[in-house]
Amino acid sequence: MKFYFPDSQDLVSPTYDFQHDEYSPLRVRQRDDLYAHEILDTPPYSGILVSKSIVDGAMKGAGKYTSAQRARLYRLGVERFFRLPKGVESLGDNGAFNYVDELVPPVTVEETLDFYIGCGFDAGVSVDHIIFGYDPLASLDDVDPAWAERRRITLRLAEEFITQVSEQNLNLQPVGAAQGWSPTSFADSVEQLQKMGYQRIALGGMVPLKTKDILDCLQEIDKVRLPTTELHLLGVTRVESMDLFSDFGVTSFDSTSAFRQAFMDDRNNFHTENDAFIALRVPQVDGNPALKRAILAGRVSQKDAIAQERVCLRVLREFDGSAGAIERAIAELDAYETICQVNRSHQAEYERTLTAAPWNECECSLCKTLGIEIAIFRGTERNKRRGFHNMSVLANKMKKLKSNVLTSTTRSNHG
Ligand SMILES: [Zn+2]
Repeated sequence: MKFYFPDSQDLVSPTYDFQHDEYSPLRVRQRDDLYAHEILDTPPYSGILVSKSIVDGAMKGAGKYTSAQRARLYRLGVERFFRLPKGVESLGDNGAFNYVDELVPPVTVEETLDFYIGCGFDAGVSVDHIIFGYDPLASLDDVDPAWAERRRITLRLAEEFITQVSEQNLNLQPVGAAQGWSPTSFADSVEQLQKMGYQRIALGGMVPLKTKDILDCLQEIDKVRLPTTELHLLGVTRVESMDLFSDFGVTSFDSTSAFRQAFMDDRNNFHTENDAFIALRVPQVDGNPALKRAILAGRVSQKDAIAQERVCLRVLREFDGSAGAIERAIAELDAYETICQVNRSHQAEYERTLTAAPWNECECSLCKTLGIEIAIFRGTERNKRRGFHNMSVLANKMKKLKSNVLTSTTRSNHG
């Protein structure tokens, strides 16, 4: 089972000064900063997924690349731009999520192929149009016409895509995009894509589906799936269900979830193989917009906040795991929350985190170097490192999947 990490230009600065929360004045962003596969000892993913809309920045939610970065990506190619180590693959897609509100995809097959070939991707997903709706009982004919139209568009563009790849003899593994709203419609899409010649198919629009619905679709797809057809789940994590999914031909998936939970989730910020913990919130008085507004409005005293921020950091850095240290840390974090007028107290959750101190157990290179700093919910350098740590935990969980163990045994048996 392969995991792809969707690129959003998430890098960390190796020279960041955690004591003073400062960047080196000599730092040049993408050149000096490191990707997860560079700062961790072992790359936490089998590949990266790069969306055209993120690079080209023409649509909403996009524009993560400056025009200079975009030019460098095209000039160097995806492998050199991302400094990918051997064995880490690249997969391109259009980022259909970014144009979900449009009637038709605002991008042609030709433009998409220019992006894939121009950047030298290993594999690329055909142009698709997401159906945001699930109705297992709707038939192929009797369904919201807009949904049916989106599926027709996706299939028509997939046909055009694979035709161009083979006619121009392009060096790219074509991945057919399948859209649907039910097990039957997904299975029909897969059947048609196989007839076009696709051996690898990406299933889209499944992010909001319950695991049971995904399994229903996979089961129906399995009735028409050729033994050689490999499936990719776009945007789906559910690592606990991956063994089940793999029984139905799923060989890869992509997701930002483990990474983003580090700083987007209310409590599951720091992952371990069997658990998840809240990170210790010490927002920067100077760098936190909500806190800044409260200070400007006169609701929070800037002087008190800065003083307590310092106390929190000091107490956490001195943390030795003793009962007294746990108590002291919780009290100071709580005092900071009171000053910052945080509505909900995190005391009980902080106690769990501090008692377990999971960063001490972690084998990843980031936890080993940073210690407790990685568990502090603060600026982007700590938060992203915690996200990278979460991905390394995900990679470890995946190594233990039955499907992976079986694959490696089969391989060694056959030399
Ligand atoms: Zn770690």
